[in-house]
Amino acid sequence: MEAEYNKHRAAQIMKRVYCSEDRLLVGFLKGVLDGHRIDCLVKNEYLIGGIGELPPGACWPELWVIEESDLPQARTLIASVLKGGSGTEPWCCPACGEWIEPQFAECWRCAQFEGDLP
Ligand SMILES: [Zn+2]
Repeated sequence: MEAEYNKHRAAQIMKRVYCSEDRLLVGFLKGVLDGHRIDCLVKNEYLIGGIGELPPGACWPELWVIEESDLPQARTLIASVLKGGSGTEPWCCPACGEWIEPQFAECWRCAQFEGDLP
């Protein structure tokens, strides 16, 4: 019984936290989680030809969190990022000077939140 339990523990319990046809957005979100030291990976990152042969959504990029314990934080981060910035204009990160697209509430380079602006 114990061996069976350990085998179960050894298997990584990954959780999918996000899926979108926008590969760049999925990659951006992975960067956000990486910036918060959350282990994650992207599945279906690259389309393998054959578009039109698969049902829609079948090969969308997916963002997975490796550690289940990181899931709540990952969801919070993604939600806060997707909620978008406060406006429709790109904003300049006060921490690193990078220009950020308005749909993002967090700097992709240094993880500064737009909401943290002084
Ligand atoms: Zn920045």
